[in-house]
Amino acid sequence: MAKYNVVFVLGGPGAGKGTQCENIVRDFGFVHLSAGDLLREERQRPGSKYGEEIEGHIKNGSIVPVQITCSLLRRAMEQSGKDRFLIDGFPRNKDNLDGWNDAMTGVADVKMVLFFNCSEQVCIDRCLDRGKTSGRSDDNLESLKKRIHTYTSSTMPIIDHYRALNLVQEMNGEKTPDEVFADVKKALDSFKL
Ligand code: UDP
Ligand code: MG
Repeated sequence: MAKYNVVFVLGGPGAGKGTQCENIVRDFGFVHLSAGDLLREERQRPGSKYGEEIEGHIKNGSIVPVQITCSLLRRAMEQSGKDRFLIDGFPRNKDNLDGWNDAMTGVADVKMVLFFNCSEQVCIDRCLDRGKTSGRSDDNLESLKKRIHTYTSSTMPIIDHYRALNLVQEMNGEKTPDEVFADVKKALDSFKL
């Protein structure tokens, strides 16, 4: 038995991953780890060797090498002292998936993938709206176009990979947050650990 149980949370930029993870933490007692937030924290950490590299990828909508992201995730898991995690915004491409499997097989079991499906236009509108207050260097139209391209070309195949393993629970991410959460609850209620 692996030490950790994991639910991956995937979907386009602005699909509602972070919002729904907050709800899940409140009602289901998982620990929420946002790969993007961990990378932003590492970027800000004085003395980080990876700060510039991370910022370059974030602005460009491209993906940070898995060694960096996976070790941040693993450290956060170990430091939490808990054993059930929502990992939000990861794995985003084949490098992420392979690196995760190499490092975490036998350590963490992926029990489910929650996929928030949301059209490109809704993703763009939401992120531009969020960009008015988020202060994020990637909530602008130029970065967003690149993020959406990365999502379509690199992340969708990862979702398909997990779909073939029968692990994906797909939600319509365009409904209201309450409606989406009702669907999330149904998916998680069938999730017994
Ligand atoms: N990112 C990455 N690897 C990850 C997660 C995020 O390289 O595993 C980078 C990537 O450049 C991405 C950015 O961080 O575009 C923002 O990710 P986040 O998940 O915060 O964005 P969201 O999808 O929540 O809008
Ligand atoms: Mg997020």
